[in-house]
Amino acid sequence: MYNYIQHYINGQWVDSTGNETIDVINPATEEKIGEISSGTKEDLDKAVQAARDAFPAFSQTTKEERADLLDRIADEYEKRKDQFIEVIMAELGSPVTFTTNVQYQMGLNHFRTAAKLVRDFDFTENRENSFIQKDAIGVAGLITPWNFPTNQASTKLASAFAAGSTVVLKPSTETPFAAVLLKEVFEAAGVPKGVFNLVNGTGSTIGNGISSHPDIDFVSFTGSGGVGTKIMENAAQDIKKVSLELGGKSPIVVLDDADVDYAAKTAISHIAGNTGQVCTAGTRALVPKSMHDDFIQAIKKYLPEYPVGDPKDESTFTGPQVSEDQWNTVQDYIQKGIDSEATLVAGGTGKPEGLETGYYSKLTVFTNVKPEDTIAQEEIFGPVLSVITYNDLDEAIEIANGTIYGLAGYVVGNDPDALTKTAKSLRSGRIVVNNEQADFTAPFGGFDQSGIGREWGDYGIEEFLEPKTIVGLP
Ligand code: NAP
Ligand code: MG
Repeated sequence: MYNYIQHYINGQWVDSTGNETIDVINPATEEKIGEISSGTKEDLDKAVQAARDAFPAFSQTTKEERADLLDRIADEYEKRKDQFIEVIMAELGSPVTFTTNVQYQMGLNHFRTAAKLVRDFDFTENRENSFIQKDAIGVAGLITPWNFPTNQASTKLASAFAAGSTVVLKPSTETPFAAVLLKEVFEAAGVPKGVFNLVNGTGSTIGNGISSHPDIDFVSFTGSGGVGTKIMENAAQDIKKVSLELGGKSPIVVLDDADVDYAAKTAISHIAGNTGQVCTAGTRALVPKSMHDDFIQAIKKYLPEYPVGDPKDESTFTGPQVSEDQWNTVQDYIQKGIDSEATLVAGGTGKPEGLETGYYSKLTVFTNVKPEDTIAQEEIFGPVLSVITYNDLDEAIEIANGTIYGLAGYVVGNDPDALTKTAKSLRSGRIVVNNEQADFTAPFGGFDQSGIGREWGDYGIEEFLEPKTIVGLP
């Protein structure tokens, strides 16, 4: 059992001023694995005060000191590899192989990358008659979702520490325990007290409290669009800066010269990875009409290579949805697809055979989906692929750009001109050509309703800084 019914404030565990707790469930077993405190407004106030008190000293540290701190954090994070993997598997139901290669690794990469970048980062700059100095923004409130418990917290925390900002973190109530491990990492690495504060609790109390807190200067949020809107509304009252990493409905544009097997496997991996609970997941496969039948055949052929099952089994590719609520949402969308004129190719509603316990969904593929259909427009956050056909590349690009989102886009094919034209025409924050690996120094974030601001690398650090121009400096 993981029981953390206190909050981490000013370098120590502190009792909550309330006595309500929240159960945390392992979605693969449906069993309770621990509980956290449901924090109160008073708990949050204490944490914000601690972050405020720690800010003057921390913001005046040198970039070399902060780079060294980030490297020590990365070292301590690596020492806890097995614990991170165990905790993320238990709270999210994330399969062991994916947890090791992606969940654990991404969190680490942000600290290492920030350490490297901040050493070369220019916090000052001379222009014609001005001297520009970038000051840490102040106290940042960080609100994170459950689908990548260390990655999302780590990108925010690495950028904040690199910039010299102090923080209050509220992780998702679904997956709060990875953040407790981060707290242990920071303590061991020597993060000064008050620089990192952890308050657990609901979005309605702690999340809402953060976005409306007069002593918080910046809110960095990752989550759903609806909550993003509420955060902006609150933050607007005292002109608080916000950064929002929201949802997506990303296209995979399959060019007419693509290898069909490669394209089908790419599409399956997008819905199967993290059980489709990925904001950047490619969930609309745009396929040339002439390739359609071969593509669907290849999908059917390769789906069994992505087994759904027990997260502890190394051969499992896809685990359960994070919660019963999320499972119900996914089921509703699958039913909407069945009720539409689209054709069900694989999967469907209900649980996969033999997986009655746990919030497991079937890998589900629809074809003959119209670009305007609900399942092709709304983020499902589950393992559901919509296959849409196109006649020519211009039409493909138009369909690809035809949602309210713009987080990511994928292109699969061979002709360099067509790859380049497509990649450059997609209106999204991140385009991946032929499954190229991520670059942690490059910006991450969305166009349109996928968000505001950028994370990762130096762009991420900039979000936690305020540029100050001084003219006439003697
Ligand atoms: P969510 O419901 O928006 O929750 C995200 C976080 O916000 C949780 O910690 C939640 O607290 C908190 N929250 C809820 N209501 C709040 C309020 N009124 N004010 C402030 N905070 C509040 O999203 P989710 O279901 O956890 O995550 C899935 C969504 O996140 C998807 O839409 C996905 O696309 C998006 N996402 C985006 C990215 C990206 O980088 N662009 C990455 C991952 C996920 P609770 O603990 O009470 O739920
Ligand atoms: Mg859970």
